[in-house]
Amino acid sequence: MNAVNVRPLAYLIIGVAACGSPRLRDARDIAASLATDVGPRLAGSPGDHAAVAWAERTMRELGLSNVHTEPVMVPVWRRGVEKAELVESHQGLAVTALGWSGPTPEEGIVADVVEVGSLEALAQMPKDAVAGKIVFANVVMPRTDDGHGYGKTVPVRLFGPKAAMDAGAAAFVVRSLSTSTDHDPHAGSTALREVANPIAAGALATADADLLHATLARGAPVKMKLVLRPERGPDAPSANVVGEVPGAKKPDEVVLLGAHLDSWDLARGAIDDGAGCGIVLQAARVIAARHRPSRTVRVVLFAAEENSVAGAKAYAAVHAPEVDKIILAMEADSGTDRARYVKLLGDPAKAAAFERIAHGLERLGIARADGDARPGTDVAPLVALGVPTIEVRQDATRYFDIHHSALDTPDKLDADALAQVSSAFAEIALGVADLDGDLGRVPEAKRKAE
Ligand SMILES: [Zn+2]
Repeated sequence: MNAVNVRPLAYLIIGVAACGSPRLRDARDIAASLATDVGPRLAGSPGDHAAVAWAERTMRELGLSNVHTEPVMVPVWRRGVEKAELVESHQGLAVTALGWSGPTPEEGIVADVVEVGSLEALAQMPKDAVAGKIVFANVVMPRTDDGHGYGKTVPVRLFGPKAAMDAGAAAFVVRSLSTSTDHDPHAGSTALREVANPIAAGALATADADLLHATLARGAPVKMKLVLRPERGPDAPSANVVGEVPGAKKPDEVVLLGAHLDSWDLARGAIDDGAGCGIVLQAARVIAARHRPSRTVRVVLFAAEENSVAGAKAYAAVHAPEVDKIILAMEADSGTDRARYVKLLGDPAKAAAFERIAHGLERLGIARADGDARPGTDVAPLVALGVPTIEVRQDATRYFDIHHSALDTPDKLDADALAQVSSAFAEIALGVADLDGDLGRVPEAKRKAE
C-alpha cells in the first residue's frame, strides 16, 4: 500500500504553508484570485485572454513545472442589449440571452406568450398555437444533493430553442435553470450553434418566470416585448493551460487533473469553475512541494467549456497518439461544497487498486460508491478514448442557486470544503501516480457519456 493512504489530512493542508506564494494560501485563495483579478472570462473575450495569462503566472507561482499553453481556436458569441417586459402591465422581466441565441430586431419583438411545461408538451403543440409566438418553457428545476435535477431540466434549455424555432415561434424564453427564486437570470448554452439564423432565446430570472406564469394563469392573452441583441464573431485564439509535477520514474506516464478556465460572462466564475481551478492547482502544488511522484501529475485548465467544449475536444484530438500514457483523467467542476464519495470508471479487473486509494479517503469523510463514475465534460473526450476517470462527487445541494449567474462571486467560496476536496484530489493523484500497476482502460461499451 502506498504511504499516501495513511498520511494525516493536516499534513496535506498545513504542509502548504511552506509551499511559497503566501498570497495564495489555499484552494479558496486561488479560486478567489481568478474571480477577482480576472473576473468574467467567456471564450474568446478579453477576460479569456487575461485568464490564460493568470493561469500561466499562477502555475509558476505555485511551483509547477513545464508550464505552457496549447493553442485552441474557440467559437465566439457576445451578449448585447437585453430587455423584456410585459406589454399590458409595463412590468420589466430580468432576462439574459442564452448562448448562441440569435438577435431580435433592434426595436425588439412584441408577441403573445405561450407557456409549455416540457419539451414533450412543446412537440405536441399544434403549429398554429406556436407560430409567431414567444414560447415560454417553464420547468422548475428540482433541488438535489447530487445535481441530477440539472441533468433532468437542462435539455429544455439546450433543445427547446431549436424545437420552438422549428415550430415557427418568434422567440423562446426558458425559466432559468436555478434552484433559487430571485431576479438574477442564469446563462447557459443551447444547441443553436450549428443553426443558421437562429431565433432569439433567453432565460428569465425564476422570480420573473413565476410572475409570467401567474399572469398567464389568469387566462387572458399576455404580450411580451423582448429585445436580445447578441452577435457572433469569427473564431478566436485561446488556449488550454498546462503545468506539471514531473514524474521521477515514469515521466511520460500521466495522471491528469482538469478544470475549466473560462466562465459565463455574467459571472465572475468563483464557483464555476474558479473552485475547480483552485482544487486541482492546490492539489498539484502540494504534490510538487512535498513529493516526487513516480508518474507525472499534469494539471490542464481547459478553454471554452461553457460555450463549446472546444478546449477539451482539441486536447483529446492533439493528445490521442499518446492517450495510452494517460493513466487517469479527473475533473473538478462541481462547485465549492464538500466531497461525499468517489466512483471509478476504468477496467473492473483493476478495481482493487482504486478501492485501496478510496479507503484512504474515508478519514476525509469521503466514501467509495458503487457504480460507474460519470465523466466530467472536459475529460469525457479522453474517456471516449479509453482513459479511466475517478469522480469526486461533491454536494451539489446549493450549487445551482448561483451557477451561471451574476451571483457567482468569491464570497460563496468555502475554504474548508475546498481544502477537503483538494486533499482528495491530491491523494488520488499521488496514489495513482505511484501505483505499481494502473487502472486499465475503460471498456469499449462504457466510453460514451450517458
Ligand atoms: Zn463549469
